Amino acid sequence: MSRGKFAAQKMMSECGIDDPTNIPLDLIIYGRGATLIEKPLNNSEGRILFGKTKGIITVNSDIAYEGKRRFVIAHELGHFELHRSLMPVHNDTDATLEFFQNGHQETEANEFASELLMPENLFRDECASKKFSPELLRYLAERFQTSITSTAYKYFELGDHPICLFYSYNNQIKYWKRPEDYPHFIIDRIKLPPPEDSVAAEFFNENKLYRKEESKQQIWKSTWFELKDWESDNEFKFYEYCIITPKYNTVLSIVWEELK
Ligand SMILES: [Zn+2]
Repeated sequence: MSRGKFAAQKMMSECGIDDPTNIPLDLIIYGRGATLIEKPLNNSEGRILFGKTKGIITVNSDIAYEGKRRFVIAHELGHFELHRSLMPVHNDTDATLEFFQNGHQETEANEFASELLMPENLFRDECASKKFSPELLRYLAERFQTSITSTAYKYFELGDHPICLFYSYNNQIKYWKRPEDYPHFIIDRIKLPPPEDSVAAEFFNENKLYRKEESKQQIWKSTWFELKDWESDNEFKFYEYCIITPKYNTVLSIVWEELK
């Protein structure tokens, strides 16, 4: 188990929390010896200031989405629990809050936040024997009061159905992830634009945004994956669902196969 996830589970068991949606995050924070302040911040979403034994967590009051606000608060609490002797003050921008970024402490704080907001056992129960779909992710995000993006990463880790993730920014693929043992190979396009026939490319090239009911789009296997010589695109059913944030010009493509 990752260090961040372990720290979140340990804290929840110490505090007697089994479902984090039943208790306001600011009360958890007070209980751990820190203070939560909400106010406008320039160039950061969250911040933590460490005192000798306590800490002050500030979250940007301009954050429009409750799911994102909760994630930022939980991320800062993760720093408080895990990194208090390591840094006197810490700022988090949108970039440092990204799941895919590499900084060791940021990864730990994200894993902590993900586990605190979506505890593994509850998340597995909610996913069990449900078919993967954009609606399922929206249901889970509502159930756990989380952002669709953080819910998608959690589903990648724990969900019943294998999914692949491709993260693009400014019409360039930055990262991708596939489950271990996934039977298909991804065409590596890091630093290149998303494939022409992908849903992500429709956004970058034509500004196309699908309505909720149409957010599951059928694509070819060859759009994102290698097609072997003996295979034909018609044998496969692949789908792409894009979580698009126009403000930051980012697209998270979730790609999955449905067996015929
Ligand atoms: Zn951070």
